[in-house]
Amino acid sequence: MTSPVSPRDDLLALDGYHSPQLDVAVRLNTNESPFAPPDEFVERWLDELRAAPLHRYPDRAAQSLRDALGHHLDQPAARLFCANGSNEVLQTLLLTYGGPGRRAAMFEPTYALHSHIARITGTEVIAGERRADFSIDPAAARALLAEYAPTIVFVCSPNNPTGTVEPATTIEALLDAPGSHLVVVDEAYGEFASWSALDLVRDDRPLVVVRTYSKVWSMAALRLGFAVAPPWVIEELEKVVLPYHLATATQIAGRLALELGSEMDDRVARLVAERERIAAALAATEGITTFASGANFVLFRPAGDGHALWQRLVDQGVLVRDFSRWPRLDDCLRVTIGTPAENDAFLSALGTALDELQEVVL
Ligand code: PMP
Repeated sequence: MTSPVSPRDDLLALDGYHSPQLDVAVRLNTNESPFAPPDEFVERWLDELRAAPLHRYPDRAAQSLRDALGHHLDQPAARLFCANGSNEVLQTLLLTYGGPGRRAAMFEPTYALHSHIARITGTEVIAGERRADFSIDPAAARALLAEYAPTIVFVCSPNNPTGTVEPATTIEALLDAPGSHLVVVDEAYGEFASWSALDLVRDDRPLVVVRTYSKVWSMAALRLGFAVAPPWVIEELEKVVLPYHLATATQIAGRLALELGSEMDDRVARLVAERERIAAALAATEGITTFASGANFVLFRPAGDGHALWQRLVDQGVLVRDFSRWPRLDDCLRVTIGTPAENDAFLSALGTALDELQEVVL
């Protein structure tokens, strides 16, 4: 049916964000934590929620959450902006510093929502290339900024879907590049990496680091993310975001999760060890190329048809993310690190699928 009312012209060509979910036994396609939040956390959250004044709007400044988070990160609360998942943080950044007549630069292949939200907010997308190993070339990036003068530069590190971790020197090169732009480092997977740009945040630097509770903190369903940035950025974001956008239930959960400290550090260590096990097993498999990852997933490229391999994994009840038709990622698949049992199931299904495909070729 033709729609009686059209959306904005510039939205007509947009495709929605798709990450297909299938009903399978082993789901390793969306980079969540394989562990549910600890029972103790859920109990405390429900207790506080029962006592909360639910007929009142939430604390607009999310002060207790920001104080606790600031304490946890060793950052002043004035440098923190919390929102419904890091996607809402990214959207608020683009609404504030992007928009019609402005540009956002990013380095492909990268997290699809950077360009998607940019377009939704009417921001022109400038796509830079990466090197063959998927790292950003600082000289090429600076040339891109000089040519297009974007107001926002996105650096996803560790990069989704490649896992690439950018060195501090690259972030600094982008910060020092001529022009007037915010450098937004998306660290949704920052806890799994060897270093974080959080330490580079200073009040006199146009640097924003974005993080999420969706991965390590096992809170993807609750939707909480945050930015660490100079107060002059935070003040602008607070003007733009809708009032009372962050539900009381989310604010309580975000504060209580911080008290789980060592349990979460332990989970990160276990996932990193499993990542290294999977990466080593993939690297040892004939015909498979892997890419170094500092995240809770590994991107790999089989010698043959990546989509056919993906389908054979699904047939065995293992769902990974299919990037085989993405520009620059021909035949690549991305596997999220799960529990040891899920990872074993993946490796075993992969062996079977590769054998089957080999027989088809022979
Ligand atoms: N940034 C990156 C790089 C991601 O991969 C994701 C989740 N897939 C997000 C941001 C958004 O996470 P959330 O909105 O759940 O915090």
